Amino acid sequence: MQQIRHDVAPRNTGWAAEMKAGQILRLSARTIIDFVAFNRHDYTEAFDQAPTKEESGCIYFKRGHTLLSRTGAPLITLIADGFEGLGTHDLQFGMCGRDRHRRAAEEGRLDEYLHGGLMELPDHGCAENLTWALEPYGIKYENIPSPVNLFQNMDIDQATGRMTRTQIRPDAPVDLDLRADCDLLVAFSACPDKASKTKGLEVGAAIFAP
Ligand SMILES: [Zn+2]
Repeated sequence: MQQIRHDVAPRNTGWAAEMKAGQILRLSARTIIDFVAFNRHDYTEAFDQAPTKEESGCIYFKRGHTLLSRTGAPLITLIADGFEGLGTHDLQFGMCGRDRHRRAAEEGRLDEYLHGGLMELPDHGCAENLTWALEPYGIKYENIPSPVNLFQNMDIDQATGRMTRTQIRPDAPVDLDLRADCDLLVAFSACPDKASKTKGLEVGAAIFAP
């Protein structure tokens, strides 16, 4: 494989890039990544959590699973997962961000996070990072779907439905390889992961030609 692009997105920043069908995106990280994808030729064909879960029959995003658009079109497939056996990637939650941080503080819900009320709230998060990363493509916040939250390991209780954030992350950066199933615009946010000891870390992003 020939590497045609390599970037490092610092903690709590966004990143976006175009990919051609068949190209591989390698994300290297040990931190939560909020990831979205759009058909490059029609941004209304955006990743959608529900059709994706329906197709795979699974509430997690695992190796061999494909992110689908709302109309069921395949966008990108996870072909290698360095997190396999350690934890799972979340398909339930949305994005953290300025408004959600503020609301959690007002509602006294910061205890849901590791650092609780002692934490200094970041002035922005994944919502802002993805908005800024996608602004050059004319995509507004309201048209950014709820992401797949890579490395966000959730404990989900079958009986009550309660979802709890865990601190399970890779100890060292591991690779996720995703293959574009059509021409794509992809974007992610290196989350200011409030549920972890690290409070977020950088993310490596490389694109390879097949
Ligand atoms: Zn986030």
